[in-house]
Amino acid sequence: MQYNLAQLFREPTGSTRDYVVDDSFIGPEEGLDRAQGWVRVIRTHEGFLVRAELETQVNMTCSRCLNWFELQSELKMEEEAYSSINPTTGRMEELPDEADGVIVLDDQHVLDMAEVLRQYTITEVPIKPLCNEECLGLCPECGSSLNKEKCKCNTAPVDLRWGSLAELLTEKQD
Ligand SMILES: [Zn+2]
Ligand SMILES: [Zn+2]
Repeated sequence: MQYNLAQLFREPTGSTRDYVVDDSFIGPEEGLDRAQGWVRVIRTHEGFLVRAELETQVNMTCSRCLNWFELQSELKMEEEAYSSINPTTGRMEELPDEADGVIVLDDQHVLDMAEVLRQYTITEVPIKPLCNEECLGLCPECGSSLNKEKCKCNTAPVDLRWGSLAELLTEKQD
């Protein structure tokens, strides 16, 4: 998923390149994640416009049961990209203020879509990913996964709502 845009840089505004993506990339958890779809790069007056529509499968660890699972998502993006060096003159380009979401190409004018995807999926990832909304998690006593088996520990799940209500009641009684 590395596209060299040096040639496109020399072409007139509006020139495009299309790339078909069916590739793996290193996602937020360093797993070999996958993406399929397309990327289109359009030469603009100052740089490039990168459009992409991709389906991604990202490996994640469930925050409750610690099992790996695959998070499917669809990603539509449109970002501006700039070269740091002008391939015709070899001089450093003056870049627009480095705002968020602007892709800066390396000095070989390579668009590293794998890195762009990694950044994107990191921001997409939920803070507490769950393999399943109903995931039962691990037993706090023996650590076995309650999705697979019911262990012999006798730990009634603590429901926080009732816990605080109980506290409230005892406070009132004081
Ligand atoms: Zn889980
Ligand atoms: Zn247990």
